[in-house]
Amino acid sequence: MRRPAIVFGIIPLRIFIGITLLGALLGTLLGTAAWGQPSAPRNPVPDVYLITIDTLRADHVGCYGYKQVETPALDALAADGVRFTQAFTHSPITNTSHITIMTGLLPSVHGVTDFGVPLSPQHVTAAELLKKHGYQTAAFIGAVILDSNTLAPGLDRGFDFYDNFPAKPDSKERWDRVERRGMEVVEHAESWFDKHRTGPHFVWVHLFDPHDPYEPPPPFSEKYKDHLYDGEIAYADTAVAHWIAFLKKAGVYDNAIIVVTGDHGEGLGEHGEETHGLFLYDSTLHIPLLLKMPAAAHRRTVIDAQVRTTDILPTILSETGIAAPPELNGASLLPLIPDAAQSQASNRALFGETDYPLRWGWAPLRALRANNTKLIEAPRPELYDLEADPKELKNLYVTDSSKVQSMQAEMAKWKAKLPPRTSSDMPAKPGEILPDPKDKIEVQNLLHNAMLASDDNRASDARQFLEKALQLDPSSPTALRQLGELELAAGDFAKAAIHLKRACELRPDDSTAEFEAGEAAEKSGDWPGARDALESSLKLAPSQMSARLLLGHVYLQLKDAKNAEDQFEAALLVDSNNTDGRLGLAEAQIQQSDFAGALPDLEALTKSDRRNAAALHLLARAYRGLGRAQDAKRTEEQAEALEKK
Ligand SMILES: [Zn+2]
Repeated sequence: MRRPAIVFGIIPLRIFIGITLLGALLGTLLGTAAWGQPSAPRNPVPDVYLITIDTLRADHVGCYGYKQVETPALDALAADGVRFTQAFTHSPITNTSHITIMTGLLPSVHGVTDFGVPLSPQHVTAAELLKKHGYQTAAFIGAVILDSNTLAPGLDRGFDFYDNFPAKPDSKERWDRVERRGMEVVEHAESWFDKHRTGPHFVWVHLFDPHDPYEPPPPFSEKYKDHLYDGEIAYADTAVAHWIAFLKKAGVYDNAIIVVTGDHGEGLGEHGEETHGLFLYDSTLHIPLLLKMPAAAHRRTVIDAQVRTTDILPTILSETGIAAPPELNGASLLPLIPDAAQSQASNRALFGETDYPLRWGWAPLRALRANNTKLIEAPRPELYDLEADPKELKNLYVTDSSKVQSMQAEMAKWKAKLPPRTSSDMPAKPGEILPDPKDKIEVQNLLHNAMLASDDNRASDARQFLEKALQLDPSSPTALRQLGELELAAGDFAKAAIHLKRACELRPDDSTAEFEAGEAAEKSGDWPGARDALESSLKLAPSQMSARLLLGHVYLQLKDAKNAEDQFEAALLVDSNNTDGRLGLAEAQIQQSDFAGALPDLEALTKSDRRNAAALHLLARAYRGLGRAQDAKRTEEQAEALEKK
């Protein structure tokens, strides 16, 4: 499945301020001002607020020492609690990483290693655990890739309210269709909170803003015009500020546990990677982690021990007194805190994973980050001394080095904790060596840019990116398929057919590419080619209605009425009222001179839909076949009259 590219339009500042003021006014009218004092009776059970900021590199946050961005809200939270300087994610992919945060499980253990993969019910989530202990639970997401109805099934488990995107968005604009700005996410959370004041609460807020493309609203678009990624971070920080101010006003801040983290970082060109997902370098694994405890315990604490996103859930459970499920892969961070200065002795090994390269047929990667060393398992493996070479530029991997061997032994222990791969998610056939993602990064950057351009209706830019990608990698099925789709949309069916046919040869299990190849062949009048592609597509995915109908029409063109009839009948089994299917079936019957067979449904169809000229033409043919010349003539005239209108 294709990852939807996320781009959004810019809300004029005036409207933005208007929305904010309106929210405040409504809040006052609804009486929120009255409960705005922190004197509300203190709840012994702490509220839990999780804030995940997408695509947030630790080294681009003010309290992590970065001078070119202003993040006062994050800095204030760090001052009010514990800041982990060496926190790492197990996965550089949004869905996988969030499921890890929510379940405390490694990606290979929870199994959600790509978009759209449902979270198995056997894995319990933070929201389920907290809800069971009386928490009111709600989640507010900033991107459709975390929508539990589509790309993140199961992520909503345990949430009383999960703020999905509308199934049928009003506009074609990206805005609100694929992404919400941070301030809108926070406003949704605040309005939910207003209606659910009785605690304890577990509220998750996801701010997607720093994800590419980098398009912060004004004034950040101006102030950070030469480094827009930082502008997105600064903007997201204002959303955090709004949410925190709200929690303070609601009187729930002091007794709350607040966790702020990133799901992964961003390549920003390091190792050739512009965004994230393909590699396991620190540019995309090193994330910020802030933990504010109830009553501001351990204020201004800094922990330098290496910790992981799997440690977040055990920490929340430990602080709320809820027993942790035994299978969790992380451990509570609380024991590190009292002895912060010595915490480095308690470094925790990080097992990193990415299956994202598999989407393009490239090798998945595994990494172990331990003892200031990183081992990356790849077709060309890598070993880095992170103390001497924090940017991971000098690969020290030598098969027989003792360092490599001890890291491999350690990695084997981690792998032993993972469930065995099933044959369907095996990366390669036995003996097959997939390309190393390091050799494909340029192609991936181009494909990513093409996807963004396509989603932005910039077809000629997309075509250029894809053609460049194909120059670098002529057998990229993804590039061929995307280019085929572009040509199909542009109406160059012969070109589309060539690209799509080649994509299918390279990836014979891609039912969508086969369907599109069939569509392109049909549109260019290549009936046998269309038949073969559509048959293959339906063999891979038999329930595709549109492929069935199109194949039926192709058989009609081939004068193979019997096979056409079979396809239309199969389509009507799925949807007995489908007009296209009913007309196709009637035409197939007429082609076989079964006029009496076609007649009843054509009469019913023309009665219920008197404006259907195609149905009237077919009915006239059926009458003529049955020797009812008068009826045929009258019906034909009705059809012609309709067509003249
Ligand atoms: Zn993400």
